[in-house]
Amino acid sequence: MKLKLHRAEDRGTKQAPAEMFTGTVYQDAVLVGEAPSRMRATNVTFTPGARTAWHQHPVGQTLWVVYGVGRVQIEGEPVVELCPGDTAIIPPNVRHWHGAAPDRIFTHLAMSETDDNGGGTEWFEKVSDADYSG
Ligand code: MN
Repeated sequence: MKLKLHRAEDRGTKQAPAEMFTGTVYQDAVLVGEAPSRMRATNVTFTPGARTAWHQHPVGQTLWVVYGVGRVQIEGEPVVELCPGDTAIIPPNVRHWHGAAPDRIFTHLAMSETDDNGGGTEWFEKVSDADYSG
């Protein structure tokens, strides 16, 4: 087995798809694991006020905050502020969203695994301003 190395210079930053996000969001791929790995990791930067749509992950998701101030909410629970160094663990198959604070940029490392069938994130409607404001 040989080391596999993805150089940063070979992978440009992508803008996140507008159907699944509100506001401007950038994604840097970290890892799309090859079987038997199911790991997926992406470094995501949200501009102020930007956030995901409501969504859920089949095996849950772990968010590790790199920079800035953000927010996360599991449906039915309060909006929670996130700061650098925080780890937020989203349980499997619960609707939630995450994003930046209204006046701050926010970067997190998002880590998840696919399910037994290779299934990943399931997306729903966008987060309203009222829900975002908590
Ligand atoms: Mn998520």
